Amino acid sequence: MHRILTISNRLPVSAIEKDGHLEFVKSVGGLATGLASLTTPVKTHWIGWPGIASDDLTPESQARLDHQLDKMACSPVHLSSRDIQEYYLGFSNETIWPLFHYFNLYCRFDQVSWEAYVRVNQAFSEAVCRNYEPGDTIWIHDYQLMLLPEMIRTHFPEASIGFFLHIPFPSFELLRLLPWREEILRGLLGADLIGFHEYDYARHFFSSVSRILGHEQHLGHIAFNNRIVRADAFPMGINYERFSQCLKMPDVQAAVNTLDRQNPYERRWIISVDRLDYTKGIPNRLEAFDAFLRAYPEYKRKVKLVVVAVPSRDEVDQYIELRERLELLTGRINGEHGTIDWTPIAYLYRSLPFDELAALYLKAEVALITPLRDGMNLVAKEYLATNSQIKKQGVLILSEMAGAASELSEAVVINPSSKDEIVKALRTALEMPQEERKRKNSLMQDRLARYTVGRWASDFLHSLQEINVIQKEMAMKKMTQEAKTQLMKAYTKARKRLFFLDYDGTLIGFFPDPESASPDERLVEIIDQLSSDPKNEVVIISGRDKQTLTRWLGNLDVNLVAEHGAFLRHRGSGWMVRETLPTAWKDMIQPVMARYVDRTPGSFVEEKSYSLVWHCRRCDPDLARLRMHELRDALVSMTTNMEIGVFEGSKIIEVKNIGINKGAAADIWLGGRQHDFVFAAGDDYTDEDMFSVLPDKAYSFKLGQGASKAKYQLMGPDSLRALLSEFAAVS
Ligand code: UDP
Repeated sequence: MHRILTISNRLPVSAIEKDGHLEFVKSVGGLATGLASLTTPVKTHWIGWPGIASDDLTPESQARLDHQLDKMACSPVHLSSRDIQEYYLGFSNETIWPLFHYFNLYCRFDQVSWEAYVRVNQAFSEAVCRNYEPGDTIWIHDYQLMLLPEMIRTHFPEASIGFFLHIPFPSFELLRLLPWREEILRGLLGADLIGFHEYDYARHFFSSVSRILGHEQHLGHIAFNNRIVRADAFPMGINYERFSQCLKMPDVQAAVNTLDRQNPYERRWIISVDRLDYTKGIPNRLEAFDAFLRAYPEYKRKVKLVVVAVPSRDEVDQYIELRERLELLTGRINGEHGTIDWTPIAYLYRSLPFDELAALYLKAEVALITPLRDGMNLVAKEYLATNSQIKKQGVLILSEMAGAASELSEAVVINPSSKDEIVKALRTALEMPQEERKRKNSLMQDRLARYTVGRWASDFLHSLQEINVIQKEMAMKKMTQEAKTQLMKAYTKARKRLFFLDYDGTLIGFFPDPESASPDERLVEIIDQLSSDPKNEVVIISGRDKQTLTRWLGNLDVNLVAEHGAFLRHRGSGWMVRETLPTAWKDMIQPVMARYVDRTPGSFVEEKSYSLVWHCRRCDPDLARLRMHELRDALVSMTTNMEIGVFEGSKIIEVKNIGINKGAAADIWLGGRQHDFVFAAGDDYTDEDMFSVLPDKAYSFKLGQGASKAKYQLMGPDSLRALLSEFAAVS
């Protein structure tokens, strides 16, 4: 059976040591439920922290613990109290958590906790190495383990690795504050698939990858380190069946009866259920309730706000302060509005078991959920699912800052920073007729019944499989060892060899400023070695102008093609114009490009004899993308019926005479002479013309991803240089 290695900070069971005995508490979270309800059965093996500090365990009890966990298909990662302090409470919860929830003023940027984060991720990686078997799918969860995908990738380059982030991914403006932002992004990009709750989070991720690492996404795919990585949205659902059928459970029924007995005045209940966390906006909610009682005093004694605040991270300062603040606030509101027989707010600082929580969901007429930021918020979904089985349905008031809001648009959606909106929403909810409640809820309930947590898990795993297939297809165009041996044999045997080598993006990488792409010493050496073999003829076939090529490569014994074939220089002779073409069109195009230079800081125009190129590699990537579209559209409509073409390349828009192309230029060397070994390498659309005129037996290489007429694919200039060096060594 297919095995999934699930890796999360905590195992689904926690160990507690009581009077020298180990006890286990199971926590059946959403993830375990999702995996259990997959239609194709899978074997799950879990790796994570068992919830007890390793320094609290004797070697014997640790051995016992490991043994017990093994029986439950779990492998522990043991963390010391120091690890927990620095990695979990420190970097995870005092740096990443506040930053990713837009509470940057709460962030601590501390080198010691960062090092602990790296160290613990490394410990997780070692645990994965001990457990991984070829064919396993690795699924890593959440913000505590963002370095893990890359760490595992270095050990198992072929492994199928998925990562899901359960919290928001912040905008670039927030992420850039993190001194280790680059390491975090590289860590995540070790995965094949990165999942987020919402598309907005994926969008922020793409933008950060583009701005920080300089890699663009294309249809949700990023080419990184010789691999394709996909990022997408997979909104997590709930176990709908369990919540929508809970009234049939005797425990839930009993809990409902208890609540009925405790509420003899039939007060209308508003509930608020969250972990006690500053991201949840609980104080705003209480203040809005206070304002509601002032604005609509007729509701006094008729409503009650039940606040469930689940203890969380109670060793972190902000959480301690928040708890004190809530207790003061509750006391003040109860003191101001309460009467002997009515307390406006019932405040419970504890976690409720399923039956009591479900009973509250059933009894409450309104669920007031107002987080300032929330990755998803499952309580909102659970409330709606629970209400589906009763006649008198409740109303959900939901913050637009919760991931769930994008799926639950029929709720009363509010901005959590607006007290006024919350006050109005409370009134709207309490006054909403049953008809309307039912109609709106049923639309949301249908959606929740379809997109359950099981569906979430299967969609994610399916998408991971899909990207693995794409990667395999790409790998097929990569040269196999066998093909490589055959290539080297053909090279050795050949007597007359011909090389067509594109320059930018092929022999050398891209630079923000095109002038910086001059050949380095190693490149000159490789070309020199290759061309000094009398059996070899090398043609550097470039879009660059002839002055630049002369300056950079003029001293080498190679043929040069400038401006995609407009100019040629055979080795040992001077430049010649292949064809004189009209250039009057430039007067019309130049002012348009100049206008785009003014509107796009960092862009500039390069003029060549037969082409004009607008460059935007130095620009803000989002603006560059937008302007490229605009400029291309403007130029295409201007140039129809003219002998010039508009071409979009890597961060450039080029306008040139269409008679000129690298295919026609390559023909000059191909025609007539009998070469018994032809080799060509290029990276963009201009090189496709060259690939299409090559003889069938030629060896052609496309650098980078994307469709191509070339036979093989190489990831970048480094791989090409390595191959050319091997030829030189044979020579
Ligand atoms: N929950 C619970 N007991 C409680 C309060 C909440 O079991 O007393 C559960 C609730 O059913 C939900 C989860 O805790 O599944 C909270 O998930 P959510 O996404 O709303 O918030 P998170 O804590 O993940 O930020």
